[in-house]
Amino acid sequence: MRLFKQIFTVIILGTALLGCNNNDENKQIVDIQVKSTNKIGPITLVIHGGAGTILKENMTAEMEKAYREKLNEALQVGYKMLENGGTSMEAVIASIQVMEKSPLFNSGVGAVYTHEGRNELDASVMDGHTGKAGAVAGVTTIKSPIRAALEVMNNSPHVMMSGPGAEEFAKEQGLEMVDNAYFGTKRRKKALEKALEKEAEQTSDLLQYQDWKYGTVGAVALDKAGNIAAGTSTGGMTNKRYGRIGDSPIIGAGTFAENSSCGVSATGHGEYFIRNAVAYDIAARMKYLHTSVEQSARKVIQEKLVKKGGSGGVICLDREGNIAMEFNTPGMYRGFMQDGKAHVFIYKN
Ligand code: ASP
Repeated sequence: MRLFKQIFTVIILGTALLGCNNNDENKQIVDIQVKSTNKIGPITLVIHGGAGTILKENMTAEMEKAYREKLNEALQVGYKMLENGGTSMEAVIASIQVMEKSPLFNSGVGAVYTHEGRNELDASVMDGHTGKAGAVAGVTTIKSPIRAALEVMNNSPHVMMSGPGAEEFAKEQGLEMVDNAYFGTKRRKKALEKALEKEAEQTSDLLQYQDWKYGTVGAVALDKAGNIAAGTSTGGMTNKRYGRIGDSPIIGAGTFAENSSCGVSATGHGEYFIRNAVAYDIAARMKYLHTSVEQSARKVIQEKLVKKGGSGGVICLDREGNIAMEFNTPGMYRGFMQDGKAHVFIYKN
């Protein structure tokens, strides 16, 4: 009888404690929702065009002007959509497509070359309202990989498709297909040649070679309805091989969006971003530690990644319209547009 009483007491106490924990957890979720619906910020668009060793002394005035103009165009195109009542996802896609078409960036035309001398592209999108996501990886003939990622999200039961299967799917969706040569540029070919030379000389560790990764593109937007969306598109890293896939098409690593925390698009040494679940880590910090989007991004990029040796950056945006553009490299092509004003930056300050 005594033993029965003891067991009974333990069960009752345990249930009470569990109930208490659940309530706390629920309260926290409610708090977050209340906080995030309290104040919806103005329509906002944040973009990046890649992080890396981008130094003023290595840049010609014409190159700098070209980058600034293209970033500005990408902002204007996406922001106009938001102004006209378009969704954050529409703005993200439109803005990224401007950069995919430009040879300046490592996405679409101008993508970097693999070890074998091809272009293999990765892209992903995530909708912060529905939590849905789509991605393509290692595709070689889809003209706009970011558009294909959207199709995966909207028209398939899957999140990620890769290689020939993703291309087959894109064709079925009526997307424009191109020859792989469409993506190639002389500048990126030279970068591959240089990387191969360095590798052959073995004068430097391949991973120390800084020229292999400029220009992944990404965008995060907040629309009139208060919904966040994020997307990233890339050619990956110069001299990558054997079907290597980076962080850009991986939800939670290179891209993440959630109305109750933030939207994130990353750029940098993908392996580190995957291992550290960078995009999700930033969002999770906001939810569980209640740190701001700026504090969360800074912690992950300047402390956690730096400690591990990972270089790169992120753009982030929360529902109140707070922006973070954090990077631990000398530069990151980036910009944002809010209250009708566009701002473009390249170097640290
Ligand atoms: N994150 C990309 C990758 O690792 C490269 C970059 O952003 O520069 O594929």
